[in-house]
Amino acid sequence: PFDVLVVGGGPAGAAAAIYAARKGIRTGVLAERFGGQVLDTLAIENFISVEHTEGPKLAAALEQHVKSYEVDIMNLQRARALVPGELVEVQLESGATLQARSVIIATGARWREMNVPGEQEYRGKGVAYCPHCDGPLFKGKRVAVIGGGNSGVEAAIDLAGVVAHVTLLEFDSQLRADAVLQRKLLSLPNVTVITSAQTSEVMGNGEKVNGLRYTDRTDGSSHAVELEGIFVQIGLLPNTDWLKGTVALSPRGEIEIDARGQTSVPGVFAAGDATTVPYKQIVIAMGEGSKAALSAFDHLIRSSAP
Ligand code: FAD
Repeated sequence: PFDVLVVGGGPAGAAAAIYAARKGIRTGVLAERFGGQVLDTLAIENFISVEHTEGPKLAAALEQHVKSYEVDIMNLQRARALVPGELVEVQLESGATLQARSVIIATGARWREMNVPGEQEYRGKGVAYCPHCDGPLFKGKRVAVIGGGNSGVEAAIDLAGVVAHVTLLEFDSQLRADAVLQRKLLSLPNVTVITSAQTSEVMGNGEKVNGLRYTDRTDGSSHAVELEGIFVQIGLLPNTDWLKGTVALSPRGEIEIDARGQTSVPGVFAAGDATTVPYKQIVIAMGEGSKAALSAFDHLIRSSAP
C-alpha cells in the first residue's frame, strides 16, 4: 500500500505529493487530468514571486516538479469511491482499487457555466470566472457580473473599484446576497443592478467580448448591453460527488476540514478548492496541500503500523 495517496493533480495535489515524497515515504498521485483548473487558465499574475505566467506553463512545471521525486503518478484515472478503514481504499472507475495508510483528497472544483451561445468561444477572451484573478485585466473597462448571490455581489463590489462600470444581472426578481452586501453595492455610483434578467448570449467581434444579451423575464423582451468583460458568478461546484456518504461535506458539497486539513475520516485529509477553505486560489491550494501532507505524515508517525 501507499503511505500517502493523493487524489487530484492540481496545485493542491502537486504540493501534497512533493511534501509527502520529501519525507521519504511511499507516495502516489491519482489524477483525472494532471494540472487541474490551471490548464484552463491563461494569464496568471498573482502567483507570488512570478510576475506573469500562463496556465499550461505552470501546469507543466507542477508536473515536472512532482516527477523530480519518487512519486507514482497515475494520470487519466478517476476515483469512484473511498472506503474508510485501517488501510483506506480508493476505488477507481477503471475497476482497480488502491490502498493507502493515508489519503489526501484534492479533487478541486469547477465553475458553474451559463450554457449560452458565445460563452465557450469567448472564455478567457472576456468571459471570466474569477474576479481576484482577472479583475485587474479589465481596469477602466465595462463589465457585467452574472449572479446576485453573495459571490456575485462581492465580485461586483470588488470590480467596481477597478473597472469603469459594473452591470449586475440576477435571474431572480431580487438579489439573494446578504443585506449588508446589497447595501454596499447599491451605494456605489458605477454599478447598475438588473433583476429578472436571464442572460441569453455572449456577443463578440470574433476576437473578444463586446456585449451581452439578456431576456427580461417579466415581459420576455430582449436587451443588449455593451461591455468588454463578463464575470460568471453562479456557483463553484466541488468535485466531491464520489465522497457522498463517506466523508462529511458542507451543504455546498465542500469537504469539511479542520485547521490541519483533517476530514471526518481518520487518515483522510483534504486540501484546496474541494474543501471548505475560503478563497479558491492557486497559492492557497498549494499551501493547503502542503499542510495536508504534513498532517498525513504526522498521522503516520503516530499510528501503530511500522
Ligand atoms: P484543481 O486545480 O481543480 O485540481 C483538481 C484535480 O483533481 C485535477 O487534477 C482533476 O483532474 C482531479 N480530479 C477531480 N476529480 C477527480 C476524481 N474523481 N478522481 C481523480 N482525480 C480527480 N487562481 C489563481 O490563483 N490565479 C489565477 O489567475 C487563476 N485564474 C483562474 C482562471 C480560470 C479560468 C479558472 C477556472 C481558475 C483560476 N484560478 C486562478 C483558480 C485556481 O485555478 C484554483 O484555485 C486551483 O487550481 C485549485 O487547485 P486544486 O488543486 O484545489 O484543484
